[in-house]
Amino acid sequence: MSEKVLIIGSGPAGLTAAIYAARAGLEPLMVEGFERGGQLMITTDVENYPGFPDGIMGPDLMEQIRKQAERFGTRIISSNVTEVDFSERPFRVSVGSDDYTADTVIISTGASARWLGVPGEEKLRGFGVSACATCDGFFFRDKELIVVGGGDSAMEEALFLTKFASKVTVVHRRDEFRASKIMVDRVLNHPKIEVVWDSVVEEVLGDSLVTGVSLRNRTTDEVTRMDVDGVFVAIGHDPNTEVFKGQLELDDAGYIVTPKGSTSTSVKGVYAAGDVADRVYRQAVTAAGMGCQAALDAERFLEHGA
Ligand SMILES: Cc1cc2nc3c(=O)[nH]c(=O)nc-3n(C[C@H](O)[C@H](O)[C@H](O)COP(=O)(O)OP(=O)(O)OC[C@H]3O[C@@H](n4cnc5c(N)ncnc54)[C@H](O)[C@@H]3O)c2cc1C
Repeated sequence: MSEKVLIIGSGPAGLTAAIYAARAGLEPLMVEGFERGGQLMITTDVENYPGFPDGIMGPDLMEQIRKQAERFGTRIISSNVTEVDFSERPFRVSVGSDDYTADTVIISTGASARWLGVPGEEKLRGFGVSACATCDGFFFRDKELIVVGGGDSAMEEALFLTKFASKVTVVHRRDEFRASKIMVDRVLNHPKIEVVWDSVVEEVLGDSLVTGVSLRNRTTDEVTRMDVDGVFVAIGHDPNTEVFKGQLELDDAGYIVTPKGSTSTSVKGVYAAGDVADRVYRQAVTAAGMGCQAALDAERFLEHGA
């Protein structure tokens, strides 16, 4: 028999969708993916999720949300979805050689930040290396930071970080930014921001916390050390939509296209929530909010077929 609701992904979006769908009696089945709990499992303090005035560790938050989803009867499969067929209903979702069918599907497979892949970066993630200024900027009051990147999000991150940091240096591998002119002008005219052109980070330095970076100038090959307390990597995100290519409308960056204010996708009965459909906000609470919307949208579709 077909599932009523099948949820793909177990971050804040997927688990919140599961809580709502389960409480509505829809007995959701979740395929949680190899990254159980999603992106917050790799972070330390989360201080901006409502309800936790003293903050909460990312993995603890996700464990609590998961328990809430399980309490109302969500069933969870610990594997990755490998293929989907949304060409007819019920939809088919494959996990290796196991096939599941479902009347509605909620996709909440998130997005992955791109990292530099240089020595020191992975070890110091959460200890001075970040890919999210909104999440972590607050921890860098009066500190010196670098932002790596040259697009609009790098400009936004740099400008946002000036609210906390004493100095922000934007490190860019070319001699001009590809961001929009208005953002570039704001960055270049900001008294707290400096730019290092034509340069790449070769290594993030520090034992338990970031203490600096080594930079290589791409035109002269000269390597210099810069003392900094934090490194914000802003070179883009990749939405986890590989398995949905050819099945759903994706935008030029691979995000699932949803109309404003709705979680509907190009296929009726398939919904998308969280970072996989959101290149703007990318927060746990917005992902959870979209998860709630997706479950309500799926419920309405099952009731009224629209
Ligand atoms: C280091 C770090 C710190 C952060 N700090 C904060 C913070 O302090 N506050 C805040 O609000 N936000 C923070 N964020 C952002 C926040 O984590 C994300 O916005 C949020 O997790 C997005 O939730 P999501 O449910 O959309 O996706 P994700 O959390 O990315 O979860 C995606 C889920 O999809 C699953 N998946 C992927 N592919 C498949 C597949 N093929 N089959 C099945 N499952 C699949 C994965 O296993 C995972 O469970 C941080 C992010 C990072 C990386």
